[in-house]
Amino acid sequence: MINIDFLVAGCNTRCLHCYVNGGPALLMPIEDVLLCIEKLETLAQYFLNDTTFTLDHEPTNHPEIIRILQAASQTRYIKNYHHGMTTGVGLMRRQDKDAVIKAYYDCGYDTFGITIHGNAPHHDEIVRRKGAYDTTVAAATYLKSSGANIEVSLMLNRFFAEDASSISAMLQQLEPNYIGFVSPIFTPHVHMKDFEPYRASMETVSAIRGYLSEWKQDEEAILKAAEQNTIEGAVKRLIAGVDLSRLFDLEQDELYLTLHPDCQLYVGNSGAETQCLGDLRHIDLEETASIIKALPGNRDYGAFYDPAILPSTDALTVALEELPQNLIYGDFESVIYRGLTELGVPTKILALNKCLQ
Ligand code: SF4
Repeated sequence: MINIDFLVAGCNTRCLHCYVNGGPALLMPIEDVLLCIEKLETLAQYFLNDTTFTLDHEPTNHPEIIRILQAASQTRYIKNYHHGMTTGVGLMRRQDKDAVIKAYYDCGYDTFGITIHGNAPHHDEIVRRKGAYDTTVAAATYLKSSGANIEVSLMLNRFFAEDASSISAMLQQLEPNYIGFVSPIFTPHVHMKDFEPYRASMETVSAIRGYLSEWKQDEEAILKAAEQNTIEGAVKRLIAGVDLSRLFDLEQDELYLTLHPDCQLYVGNSGAETQCLGDLRHIDLEETASIIKALPGNRDYGAFYDPAILPSTDALTVALEELPQNLIYGDFESVIYRGLTELGVPTKILALNKCLQ
């Protein structure tokens, strides 16, 4: 599977936990967007795989989003994967928001999602934009009133214990079609440590027992996963001799690429680019396809490390034992990447991201 993160217009927030390097960015001119969709369609014809692109980070920031959606929905060999997540800021400030929503529906996309980080002040602090919470909830309400399915992702942080009743009130008011509960992962992105002071602990999760069921979550499953994915839980697995090689050596069959607003095509997810393949408007597509075909998959972030220079499991365990033991991560792998970051293990990610965020 190949997915291309197609960045047309940046993002309105600068979330501390962002693992796709969101934040304000230049617009891709509409002529370039349309040309790049054509080029991706041609490129996809060289692959037998499932090939998709995603209009990321906040496509409604683009003044020509309606034309972009229409072009993106007419491709044959490459599909536009609509994840629907939005901050709502781009949509709510538009005069033509009803036409934009209609364009989404006409193209077959009727589901949108928002992420909530606690009450309004705490949400705004984590996404680093004043007023972001109010706009996000207003956008979800507006989209729902126009017939959209609304999904809410509750992204766990240390504020959840004190903000639980505010979260419940928001959910009761919005009545979303689906509620998800997410513990932020940790990736080798250059700014990822910024979220660490906000990370929830086992105490946070214990304090929201009762609320989790109210939020339609499987309380026992969340508590169990949280415990397993604390640093302490991961260290226990390391000491028990868990095999780490599968994180770094296993062949992966999903490849992520990123297309920047300047039309440069990169290998790697947004913010984790490892190789520039050139300007999509001008590169030889057949040659680029053969380069891409030879690339290993990179869905899991183990692909961003060189197995030859990894520390020993003992060194990693010692580094993790120095960190707060009860902090919760999205998965076991995240704890390993947290430890590698603490040890300063270099990744294959290009230095171009050092200046971002
Ligand atoms: S997490 Fe999403 S909304 Fe937040 S900065 Fe990243 S892309 Fe933007």
